[in-house]
Amino acid sequence: MLVTTKDMLLDAQKNHYAVGAFNVENLEFVMAVLAAAEETKSPVIMQTTPGTIKTAGLDYFYGMVSAAAARASVPVALHLDHGDGFDRCMQALRVGYTSVMIDGSHESFEDNIALTKSVAAVGAAMGVPVEAELGKVGGKEDDGPAVEGENPYTDPDEAREFVERTGCTSLAIGVGTAHGVYTETPHIEQDVVKAIRAAVDVPLVLHGTSGVPDEQVAEAVKNGICKVNYATELRQAYTKGYMAFMAENPGVFDPKKPAKQGMAEITNIVKIRMENLGSVGRA
Ligand SMILES: [Zn+2]
Repeated sequence: MLVTTKDMLLDAQKNHYAVGAFNVENLEFVMAVLAAAEETKSPVIMQTTPGTIKTAGLDYFYGMVSAAAARASVPVALHLDHGDGFDRCMQALRVGYTSVMIDGSHESFEDNIALTKSVAAVGAAMGVPVEAELGKVGGKEDDGPAVEGENPYTDPDEAREFVERTGCTSLAIGVGTAHGVYTETPHIEQDVVKAIRAAVDVPLVLHGTSGVPDEQVAEAVKNGICKVNYATELRQAYTKGYMAFMAENPGVFDPKKPAKQGMAEITNIVKIRMENLGSVGRA
């Protein structure tokens, strides 16, 4: 059965590791991520953005991930990533998602608070955790335009006020990472992570982690990050494996065969990330 992200993230916060949250695009991604979680005895969050949901609908993704959870020996949560409004979050909850993010980071501070508070109130009534975002994770988010030129760092005092006033149960923060593909090596501002950790007591979330060196991520986890999102590099891994198979076997037309190689690439990278996050053996 699917579980919520609540106990997972609180345990991670208490014991100084992080749970990986992996964006799944189709059935093969779901199976490949679950295989990595099983092999490493790791709790796992599978998540979908509104852009991904558009391809099939919330019900399809719920069906696939809840089937995975039913077979799993490790805790599996299904999370709405970058929920784009109150209605979308309600639709995800109704379908059976066990965790949602409301992303009001593009709004003013006060509007972000009002929006987040409205979703957090429903989440609290239903016992479903609600992640929010304050500050800016740069780059290209889901299928939106690239964000550039804004101060990317979350202010610790604002974070404290935001959590108190909204009742969100976890917080995504801007610490120098960006969504999409990096053109130069990113830099996580560790002092910002530490300052926010000292200011708020909810689990902290890192977005835009594909392409960030593992040492930087491990240090951010040490400094208080409890959930780490990976999307881009799973897409790259799957496509790499699939294309490599087809390049070697151009006559094959059974899609299960190249997909198998794509899935192996995903499982491999997810295992490496879970080890780095310290979630191995925590299931
Ligand atoms: Zn994100």
